[in-house]
Amino acid sequence: MMQLDTPIEYLKGIGPQRAEVLKKELNLFTLRDLLTHYPFRYVDRTQFHLIRQIEDDQSYVQLRGRIDSLEVIGEKRTKRLVCQFRDNSGTIELVWFQGYKWMAEKLRTQTDYVVYGKPTLFKGRFNLAHPEINLATEEYLRSASAFQSVYNSTEKLKVRGLDSEGLRRLQKQLYAYLNPAFVSENLTPELLEEHRLLPRYEAFRQIHFPESAELLKQAEWRLKFEELFFVQLRLLRVNKVRAHSSQGYVFNRVGPLFNDFFSQHLPFQLTNAQKRVLKEIRLDMGSGRQMSRLVQGDVGSGKTMVALMSMLLALDNQFQACLMAPTEILAQQHFETISSQLKDLPVNVALLTGSSTGNQRKHILKQLAEGHTHILIGTHALIEDAVQFQRLGFVVIDEQHRFGVAQRARLHAKGIYPPHMLIMTATPIPRTLAMTLYGDLDTSVIDELPPGRKPIKTVHYMESARLRVNGFIREQIALGRQIYVVFPLIQESEKMDYQNLQQGYDHLVTEFPPPQYQISIVHGKLSNQEKEREMQRFINGETQLMVATTVIEVGVNVPNASVMVIESAERFGLSQLHQLRGRVGRGAEQSYCILMTGNKLGQDSRLRMETMVRTNDGFEISEVDLKLRGPGDITGTQQSGMLDLKIANLAKDAQVLQLARAAAQSVLDEDPLLQLEKNALLVTTLNTNGREKTNWSKIG
Ligand code: ADP
Ligand code: MG
Repeated sequence: MMQLDTPIEYLKGIGPQRAEVLKKELNLFTLRDLLTHYPFRYVDRTQFHLIRQIEDDQSYVQLRGRIDSLEVIGEKRTKRLVCQFRDNSGTIELVWFQGYKWMAEKLRTQTDYVVYGKPTLFKGRFNLAHPEINLATEEYLRSASAFQSVYNSTEKLKVRGLDSEGLRRLQKQLYAYLNPAFVSENLTPELLEEHRLLPRYEAFRQIHFPESAELLKQAEWRLKFEELFFVQLRLLRVNKVRAHSSQGYVFNRVGPLFNDFFSQHLPFQLTNAQKRVLKEIRLDMGSGRQMSRLVQGDVGSGKTMVALMSMLLALDNQFQACLMAPTEILAQQHFETISSQLKDLPVNVALLTGSSTGNQRKHILKQLAEGHTHILIGTHALIEDAVQFQRLGFVVIDEQHRFGVAQRARLHAKGIYPPHMLIMTATPIPRTLAMTLYGDLDTSVIDELPPGRKPIKTVHYMESARLRVNGFIREQIALGRQIYVVFPLIQESEKMDYQNLQQGYDHLVTEFPPPQYQISIVHGKLSNQEKEREMQRFINGETQLMVATTVIEVGVNVPNASVMVIESAERFGLSQLHQLRGRVGRGAEQSYCILMTGNKLGQDSRLRMETMVRTNDGFEISEVDLKLRGPGDITGTQQSGMLDLKIANLAKDAQVLQLARAAAQSVLDEDPLLQLEKNALLVTTLNTNGREKTNWSKIG
């Protein structure tokens, strides 16, 4: 009997060979896979093109006309049937290499045909190779659909006759099975009713062979809803299960360190957002379950202070805390800020990085194991096995996008219970993406900047404005400010990029000569000590300009730096540009970001520059970024199979996602462990989906 998980070769029209390519090329193993190989677009078959109007990059055209002549030409392997096809506007060649004999017998001159195919340019003329061709009978024209599905295919599939057309024929085979017995419903009647969703089998019918625009829309909605619903149900269930079972240390007191710091040593008033997030953290860490919390806050929103005060809570409860940063410079900077802010409190802070010397290291590790060190700050070095805490209760990970999930997991292994975990990210990610990527984490958002910040002014200049920009830099330096000049550095073009960096530096030295001007330079080829020294000179104000590659992208805090010049800005992604811009605007002075680009810009680059100039809002920027690049690139990770969506699109389907998440939430609110009879089919689907995923990765 045919079922959804029947292997694909059992469908009529697919032999073992075609099955093989379908598996290899499109990952289609079962009938279910075929069914969820959705059209990527639709063409309107009631509309006709004119031959004269065919353009270079047109995908498919539908023509109506007559064959003037047909002849078989060429030798052996190039032997082919060529027809001159005419409509009112011109002629075009139709060509068949395969089955040409049969076509030659079948086709008639001076008869009306409808032709459908993809034009290719050959020797300056368009032709249609192997078009679909039908007699233009009344009946055919009447049956033509305004929504003909078009499928993704590959060269290897086309060789086997499985172009879009061939794939549609396979879908047609399946169409006969699309009934409730074959395609069982996987959403409860309640959900179907409440959200007015098409039945599942009907959605499949309409997505492949839509009867109307309205039904197509409903089918898409239903299938997107279903897809996102199960992703969210899985994530939220993980969260619920964690709430039920994952025990953690209880931090139930707000002790002297926290209170003393709060009342005596706080260098500024906390923003309301900082207060709110601190409270969320405090409640979470006192709940008896382990905290896994993501704090999102735009650059400069003051995440470090939130981390610091949370660490004091851990200390007040007799635990140690650690803070992990993605780079040495950043770890160093955190160490300095935090040490100085805590200098009047009985708290020992230590720094451990890859460049700690053998003796320092030994000493630090000893102090740590004996519990003398309360807060350890560092880089990846913190998760090495040799690093043993006496009583680690709380871990902060700063700028999480540089840390892998696996690295996070290693920290778990260091105590009786896993320590509470606070992950801070300044890369704002769109809500939709956050819900899907971090749906199993609790989230806090610092959605407010400290008061008194002047919004950074961003301008976009082309190379021709170089003199003006230099003049502006001079003015700013005269006012006592400092300037960053950032160059792109990309692995693929590393050599060229270093040349550009060097040229840019030389150019700056000529424009801003010593002794009046001093310039720091930081890039990946310097040793850590050299980088450190150069950074330090800039931080201390000994240098006015800092030339750098993106090593300064994350976290660095020099409040007196008020101008960020980004060279070849068109080569940076939006979120990177935003991160870089976030390095200025940290003091009370008006800050500027200058985007320098070449004179010619592509469409995407122009949109990126316009977006940067228009807004300082990281979330808005991330939305544009998501639309431009898609979710995979933004996160820079393939780790999440959850982003493997077949029909929903996180950049576009925020509304469906909201509803699907709310629906999943309300199912779990009523039935947290999914034990009710009526939810059995949800569990079945969750389990099968999970299994399918692992299977595919093994086979593929
Ligand atoms: P980020 O969220 O990007 O990590 P930081 O924690 O580095 O931001 O904070 C940026 C700057 O803002 C720092 O100089 C910090 O001292 C300052 N800051 C943080 N919170 C406040 C506040 N509530 N009021 C004033 N300044 C603050
Ligand atoms: Mg930070």
